[in-house]
Amino acid sequence: MKRALISGITGQDGSYLAELLLDKGYAVYGLLRRSSQFNRARIEHLRNEGKPLELHYADLGDQTTLRRLISRIQPHEFYHLAGQSHVGLSFEIPESTVNETAIATLGLLEICRDLPTPPRFFHAASSEIFGVPADSPQDEQTPFRPVNPYGCAKTFAANLCRVYREAHGMFVVNGILYNHESPRRGESFVTRKIASTVARIQSGAKEILELGNLNSERDWGYAPEFVEGMWKSLQLSAADDFIFATGTSTTVRDFAIHAFREAGIELTFRGTGENEQAFDSVTGIEMLRVNPKFFRPVDSHRLVGNPAKAQKILGWSPQVSGNRVAEILTRAEIAGIQ
Ligand code: NAP
Repeated sequence: MKRALISGITGQDGSYLAELLLDKGYAVYGLLRRSSQFNRARIEHLRNEGKPLELHYADLGDQTTLRRLISRIQPHEFYHLAGQSHVGLSFEIPESTVNETAIATLGLLEICRDLPTPPRFFHAASSEIFGVPADSPQDEQTPFRPVNPYGCAKTFAANLCRVYREAHGMFVVNGILYNHESPRRGESFVTRKIASTVARIQSGAKEILELGNLNSERDWGYAPEFVEGMWKSLQLSAADDFIFATGTSTTVRDFAIHAFREAGIELTFRGTGENEQAFDSVTGIEMLRVNPKFFRPVDSHRLVGNPAKAQKILGWSPQVSGNRVAEILTRAEIAGIQ
């Protein structure tokens, strides 16, 4: 039985990946951090199914425990997904973001290098490494120009992964992941915030959805499709870097329009920039307004990925993007499903 290790198994991607690997017959080992409250809601359903799933406590800052566990498990495949994953928050907590995202990845690569047979290693890199790119869409050759602490940390880690692949001959893949969402997305992310607020408004709450820059565009995909790509990338005969993206971009405004539409509310917009608002077209009640508090110091923009290489080499072809993601998330929120 193949052994797969997942750091960040309690996160959005970790939970979908665990489901996928268990279905494929892997023994799955998950690393999670200790917290004062159980943080396993996304994987709880898997623990009662009698499948080969083992969970172990190991904070990313705890190298001794990580080394002990990884040496004992000796995984065939290691999916490194853990870390502070919120771009906006990385301006507020840059040190822990960099320690978890950059330094911890270095530590894990070193631990793997010391194993008799190093595992195939998947690193969850991010489109944020491109920051404000000169060209759009980006591909695997686009220069790294991060514009936030999270992007800087992912850039460091992605560069190191390339070094370990080339200098040490290790099987290390950078998955350059563009935004991917699901009903399991953390509640502080804009997509989930939009979907959950719309669901509350639909059920009668007197609430106004407050957002930052409505013109921000993202290449939004669907997390279950992205974890399939992660697995495919570790099945190749040689390691490489891959863009995982849908190749389409959607504005925050359009995402919100589709989320409200899914709840049966058509929006009418008034004003521009910081003064933009949206109203229910039938009742005239205010539904959405821009709040500059949510603007980022520097916003990454023109981040659209070209997934041609993943399509060609991995046969990975995402079907769900932007507006459809908005519909899926909102429908799930209305139904109370995660
Ligand atoms: P997520 O839902 O925020 O999950 C992050 C995981 O990392 C959680 O399991 C979290 O544990 C764990 N973690 C955080 N700090 C840790 C620490 N100090 N020690 C141990 N575990 C720690 O993120 P995701 O959306 O699944 O993303 C997975 C990876 O892909 C991340 O590295 C993210 O940066 C990257 N990525 C994601 C996207 C996206 O759109 N989703 C795009 C580009 C790159 P808790 O459950 O205890 O918080």
